[in-house]
Amino acid sequence: MLPWRVSKKSPNKLYYRLLSEFMLQQTQVKTVIPYFKFFLVNFPSLKSLSLSNEAKVLKLWEGLGYYRRARNLLATSKILVNENKSKLPKNLIDILKLPGIGDYTANALLAFIYNQPTIAVDGNVKRVFSRILNKNENKIDFNKLIEINKKNLFKTKRNSDFAEALMEFGALICKPKEPNCFKCNIQNTCKYFKSGKKFKKTRMLKTKVKNYNIFCYIDKMRHRIALTKKHSLGFLNKFYLPSIKESNSNKKIINWNFHSNFKDSISNKKLNINLYYKFSLKIPSHHQWFSLKRNNEFIPSFTKKIFKQISKIN
Ligand code: SF4
Repeated sequence: MLPWRVSKKSPNKLYYRLLSEFMLQQTQVKTVIPYFKFFLVNFPSLKSLSLSNEAKVLKLWEGLGYYRRARNLLATSKILVNENKSKLPKNLIDILKLPGIGDYTANALLAFIYNQPTIAVDGNVKRVFSRILNKNENKIDFNKLIEINKKNLFKTKRNSDFAEALMEFGALICKPKEPNCFKCNIQNTCKYFKSGKKFKKTRMLKTKVKNYNIFCYIDKMRHRIALTKKHSLGFLNKFYLPSIKESNSNKKIINWNFHSNFKDSISNKKLNINLYYKFSLKIPSHHQWFSLKRNNEFIPSFTKKIFKQISKIN
């Protein structure tokens, strides 16, 4: 049983659902579970989270990636506690005003918290509907489809269970690669199952790999590295990284010691990295020294990987 699925009457329902929905944006369930539990040990309630600060929340989020989610979660908890008596607004427009909450999360929360007749359209739900209609996902207006079929979809008063069951059905029965049609109770209404001409999913375009050069200034004696927030990885802005520059080629740079080449992916970006270093006490402006052994405060895992590589230099 997933730890955020608590009884409908639980006072923690809103907090658990909010926390899990933020964590589950872009991250798989099995990765989220231990983070979710650990988060609760530190912040057992919405109020305790709202009283915290960004540094603490980011530290707990370390390794989960997409750190903007952590900031938005904290901001949302403060708004709910301070301006809304720790309650979730009851309509879509007001929920969408909360930081980090888009259409999907807003609909999920309305269904889970208030049992409203709404569906959070995630990848699983899209796949189920597109198979039932035997139509490509990008040819379906899901909002319109749900609106038109509202009466048929929400026949019982268990709207929250229905929203959750639909996602679960997509994950366990109408699976991405091999749908388990022979165990499926809706085969008779499924055009994909009945059709001899099944639609083919449009292939996702492959993400282009980009080349980056990373330049590390190292204070060998004091085991320090210079980091800056002024770097060219916009999606990691506000975080400390060594100097990093995008490059059109894979050519080696002169005047720097080449350390290694490695591949990485951050968020949905793929990076091919050439890592360089220089022993120097002179560092460019906007840089500051950080101990390579630093452990107590938040440093993104990408920077930590570089720490690890650089620490091996004799
Ligand atoms: S019959 Fe097969 S394809 Fe159709 S909804 Fe059921 S599992 Fe999915």
